[in-house]
Amino acid sequence: MAMHDSFIGELAAVVGERYIVTDASEISRSLRDNSWLSPLLSEHIDQRKREEGKTLQVDAVVSPADAEQLSAVVATAVRHNVPMTVRGGGTSNFGQVIPLGGGIILDIRRINRILEVGKDFITVEAGALQGDVDAAARAHGKELTVLTTTYASATAAGWVAGGHVGLGANSYGTIWDGNVLKVKMLTAEEMPRLLELSGSDLLPALHTYGTTGVITEVTFPLVEAKEWLEGVAVFDTFEAAVQFTASMANETTFAQRVVAAQEAPIAQGFTPLLGLYEEGQSIVLMIVDATAEAECMALCARYHGTWRRWRSAGETGKISLALMVYGHRMLWVKKVAPDSAFLHGYFSPDAYFQQLQALKQRFGTDVWLEYKYIKSRWLRALRGLPGDGPLPAAVLTLLPTDKAFLRTVMEFCDSIGVSYLNPHTFLLEESGLFLDFQPIADFKRQSDPKGLLNPGKIGNKYFTPQETV
Ligand SMILES: Cc1cc2nc3c(=O)[nH]c(=O)nc-3n(C[C@H](O)[C@H](O)[C@H](O)COP(=O)(O)OP(=O)(O)OC[C@H]3O[C@@H](n4cnc5c(N)ncnc54)[C@H](O)[C@@H]3O)c2cc1C
Repeated sequence: MAMHDSFIGELAAVVGERYIVTDASEISRSLRDNSWLSPLLSEHIDQRKREEGKTLQVDAVVSPADAEQLSAVVATAVRHNVPMTVRGGGTSNFGQVIPLGGGIILDIRRINRILEVGKDFITVEAGALQGDVDAAARAHGKELTVLTTTYASATAAGWVAGGHVGLGANSYGTIWDGNVLKVKMLTAEEMPRLLELSGSDLLPALHTYGTTGVITEVTFPLVEAKEWLEGVAVFDTFEAAVQFTASMANETTFAQRVVAAQEAPIAQGFTPLLGLYEEGQSIVLMIVDATAEAECMALCARYHGTWRRWRSAGETGKISLALMVYGHRMLWVKKVAPDSAFLHGYFSPDAYFQQLQALKQRFGTDVWLEYKYIKSRWLRALRGLPGDGPLPAAVLTLLPTDKAFLRTVMEFCDSIGVSYLNPHTFLLEESGLFLDFQPIADFKRQSDPKGLLNPGKIGNKYFTPQETV
């Protein structure tokens, strides 16, 4: 207890009493993320708790004011061998921010300045909200290449360390495809080093859940800001919606931020849009260059569909489609299937249509489909494909959510050449997002030798902490 008190006292001396929360009920707000969205992961968390007989708890939530305080807090925790889990907006939904090893939570949201907006880049502190980052860029006539749909509450570092896609990923790809230029990151050592990573050296910082260091600053690339138009393409069949989406992916004459086909049952979940189409119709949610409406209409007509404008550029007063796509789509699907689970799949560019048909033939209405493209060299390489062309990415909504059904769907995907992200693991190396995890583990041995950063997210096969005394 004396050791515990002296540790908390040392932290208080760094950040001030006001910025340390030790009250258990207040702490509980910072213990969870959005993994409740997945019944599979929630079950996994509960099972783990049962098996290990532990309740999720930490000693304190600490909110440093700046990078210097952050560094001093990290040094103190390392000296006392106390685990640390960094938390931004806490919006992640794969268990990334759940502190399995106890210790302290480092809340970085006070470290949030926009540091520099250049001609083609923006540098911000780790806790800046992505919405504020994009707004700062827009004030200079620029915008982020890829923007998480949780931009209102997600932080810059949280997206880099916990997310990977967002609005614009169909044109610019993922965090591994040049959408992060530079990261400054503290090591978890008694005298933390501030590393500056760019180019291929960025790898250990990207989507590694804060296990390799504590990010203090991020530099993102910027492109010219565009006026965006939002519309819904309506089709009588999902097949036509998919073919239209595939044509859009090959369309290079105008910019696109998202083009995502939704099977008819899912379409019923987007309640604000229901006046635009009939029950039984499939839709494609689209955010495209404001000057491209005529082209979109013509392409819709080619597949016997109808274009419905939803929001003109700059129009307000209606919810944006930005809040119905990528991760946000789950919230609308839950309206029609509250207990559903999700499986993120990657299809073959040459055989996607047959693969979609095979899934529907095998599972019928037990699996609902979203179909879109992500232009990613990184994701293609995971499938053994060269280049950075569009990769068919589908989200499977599973209606029965028991493990046996999930296993059956996964086995069927394996049998038809559809790869997927593992939906019920905390372990990074099992996520399905890394071809070779070894370089990340090697980096961690140098940057966090005691294994204090977000323990439980890298397995023993790749990392065992140095003995501590
Ligand atoms: C409805 C919904 C929609 C979503 N849409 C998208 C989407 O479009 N695209 C997408 O990629 N994700 C999406 N997500 C997931 C999540 O919102 C994003 O990844 C988001 O960017 C995470 O940011 P955050 O600040 O909330 O991070 P947190 O949840 O706080 O943290 C995420 C991970 O990053 C680590 N971390 C945080 N800060 C640091 C730091 N300073 N240094 C080191 N590690 C750190 C944490 O420990 C954790 O492991 C969605 C989630 C939901 C619930």
